[in-house]
Amino acid sequence: MNIIVCIKQVPDTSEVRIDPETNTIVREGVPSIINPFDENAIEEALLLREQHGGKVTVISMGPPQAEAALRESLAMGADEAILVSDRCFAASDTLATSYVLSTAIRAIGEYDLIFCGKQAFDGDTAQVPPGIAEQLGIPQITFTIGLEVDGRKVRGRRMLESEFEVVEVRMPALVSVVKQINEPRRPGIKAKLAAKKKEVTIWDSACMDIEPCLCGLDGSPTRVVRTFAPTREIKGEKFEGEPAECAAAVIDRLIGQKII
Ligand SMILES: Cc1cc2nc3c(=O)[nH]c(=O)nc-3n(C[C@H](O)[C@H](O)[C@H](O)COP(=O)(O)OP(=O)(O)OC[C@H]3O[C@@H](n4cnc5c(N)ncnc54)[C@H](O)[C@@H]3O)c2cc1C
Repeated sequence: MNIIVCIKQVPDTSEVRIDPETNTIVREGVPSIINPFDENAIEEALLLREQHGGKVTVISMGPPQAEAALRESLAMGADEAILVSDRCFAASDTLATSYVLSTAIRAIGEYDLIFCGKQAFDGDTAQVPPGIAEQLGIPQITFTIGLEVDGRKVRGRRMLESEFEVVEVRMPALVSVVKQINEPRRPGIKAKLAAKKKEVTIWDSACMDIEPCLCGLDGSPTRVVRTFAPTREIKGEKFEGEPAECAAAVIDRLIGQKII
């Protein structure tokens, strides 16, 4: 089984800062990690390879430093790693990112499954996996918490807000996974050192059949008009005094309003 895993390198912080001038994510001075959901995507691919044989290729679109995330995935056990990197990909929105990644996947050739994380820790849109599936014209199962492969059939259990949904598709297909699907393996020092010596293939736009007008800023119809942190409005009445007095006043008020 040929499996491709899309991974994104993200800042190692839940405190993602936005540059108020450019409305883009500030990445300088922040250490980077593999997007946590993508570690689950790699793990699921490795588990399937262990059961069915085949190859796991990990791919990331990003700046040169994204190579570190790819090496981490080689240490986890991926067979091959491809960094898709070119200045003309900078400023890509989710549509352009999906275009570049799907073009790279076409260039890889034969594949049975593509794994993605549910969403990226920083951009947070969850739009790239459906975008890739759409551009490749293949079925998708998003927010997957459990997966079964039966011949060319893939059955995924989707985690929705208040229920689960079971979806069956035929390969080739794309699957995006949630954290609860598995526990990613942690590579040891030996595996990390070995991964340092492995090759990470680098593809720029010349290596793929890329239309320059469909990537980067030119290929990005999204415009970030404004960013802001929502203000928390605390509604209601404040009771001051001793706790027992406050509690009595609250009870009186609730009885008065016929709530209790
Ligand atoms: C107008 C605009 C300009 C932007 N300019 C830049 C910029 O200059 N530089 C920049 O870094 N970002 C930029 N972004 C953000 C960029 O569009 C997103 O980071 C990117 O498209 C992924 O979206 P997301 O983070 O919401 O991923 P999601 O859709 O939430 O990610 C879901 C999954 O898709 C896969 N995935 C997502 N991104 C990648 C990737 N790059 N490689 C491999 N797999 C991936 C992973 O499996 C991930 O778990 C810009 C966004 C906009 C709207």
